[in-house]
Amino acid sequence: MITIEDLIQDVRKYNPIEELKIRKAYELANELHSGQFRQSGEPYIIHPLSVAMILSEMRADSDTICAALLHDVLEDASDKITKEDIAFQFNPTVAELVDGVTKISKLNFSSKGEENEANTRKIMLSLTTDVRIVVIKLADRLHNMSTLDAKSPFKQKENALETMELYVPLAYYFGAYSIKNKLEDLCLRYLKPDLYFKLQDLRNKIEFDNTPILTEMSGNIKGILGNRFDNDITFRIKNIYGIYKKLTEGKKISDIHDLLALKVIVDTMENCYLTLGLIHNIPYHPINSKFKDYICLPKTNGYQSLHTTLCESNVLVQTQIRTFEMDRVASFGLISHWAKNKGEARDTMQRELNEKLPFYRSLVEIDKMFADNTNFIKEVKKDIFSKNIYVYVDGKVYELPEGATIVDLAFKISNELGYTIVDAIVKNEHLRDERVSFDYELKNKDIISINSDKLLYGQVRKLLPAAKTCYARSRILENIENIK
Ligand code: MN
Repeated sequence: MITIEDLIQDVRKYNPIEELKIRKAYELANELHSGQFRQSGEPYIIHPLSVAMILSEMRADSDTICAALLHDVLEDASDKITKEDIAFQFNPTVAELVDGVTKISKLNFSSKGEENEANTRKIMLSLTTDVRIVVIKLADRLHNMSTLDAKSPFKQKENALETMELYVPLAYYFGAYSIKNKLEDLCLRYLKPDLYFKLQDLRNKIEFDNTPILTEMSGNIKGILGNRFDNDITFRIKNIYGIYKKLTEGKKISDIHDLLALKVIVDTMENCYLTLGLIHNIPYHPINSKFKDYICLPKTNGYQSLHTTLCESNVLVQTQIRTFEMDRVASFGLISHWAKNKGEARDTMQRELNEKLPFYRSLVEIDKMFADNTNFIKEVKKDIFSKNIYVYVDGKVYELPEGATIVDLAFKISNELGYTIVDAIVKNEHLRDERVSFDYELKNKDIISINSDKLLYGQVRKLLPAAKTCYARSRILENIENIK
């Protein structure tokens, strides 16, 4: 279990002078949360302490660390403390931060349904009074999502959906990829657990199979760079949600060009280009169409890197070349200013956000991000929250979401049946057989038998419009891709 000493030790590394203030915030939070427990049974204080730890990893200033420790007191101990008390005992900034976080917690995003998409953007744009409020909220959410196990399945799904709708795009806005990737995987784990664990196995296998080649490649690059300049080479496998998204786009695993990535970090920008030249000289095959210079043309969220996709023994490896500083931005985005320019970090972050946000709205990149998210959320909602209907096939009962068709049912029974479906027979209320097309929308208590023809295997494109569930759609897209 983490303690205040862990936090102090972490903060000491970059900000040794404000230990007392942080200890004081901890003491106060500990007192105000005493007797409160999390659903996991842990004392409540572990939560604010963990949130503060996440922020200290980002090199957050001491006001932010204090606010993180106190972030839940106005909500959970409102009878014992006010915003004014915090301002008096610490300073007005800490009070504003705690108050801001409390206000966001009270907005209920996920229950608003359709109007929510527009709302999400509005909220983001209005949250520009102090960017640190949003950063604390992101850390809060990250810790809550990593401790969801203790909650009921419904709460888990509700939280995960809200995270997907609001916090994942926020993390992307900030360019905080390390947070975004963690949140996405956690969301998928609770929204589609079966799929998540299947993909996790797949990812482990990919890692096991490709570690030798990645190790060899990094060794070669290390050798070629030699002692010319300071460098660090690591590799990673794409996150689970990232793999999931590519698969639902209809891609095959072997076609995901950034499934495997080598990260080459060097000291200066000039050396990034030098490194690129040296790597292209090794007999790996760079894939021309996949080269990107995000150093000259940074992404809108500030991401900078050179990307070149290399092909070695039929394996695609995206090679990312950037400086140590660019790497910090790649993990934390805007938030990395904390580490860069200490005293003015907050103003710099605020200015960047205020300058960028107004023109963010029209950018294709961000729109695409929202669109991906929106589709995912819609599908999940359809699967999870819509009313279910029950139909009979060969005396067995199958549960499907409202609006599901014969195609969805067929895939639910077996992939084989889905891929070879012709049409179906439904017993109507007079118990007379009625032949229906595969796009027939199922009704509660329908008695169905599905006709299939093995010779039709592979002709699934026509089924796509009739597939309403995520599962059937993904299977069909997969099949279309395999036959190409
Ligand atoms: Mn909290």
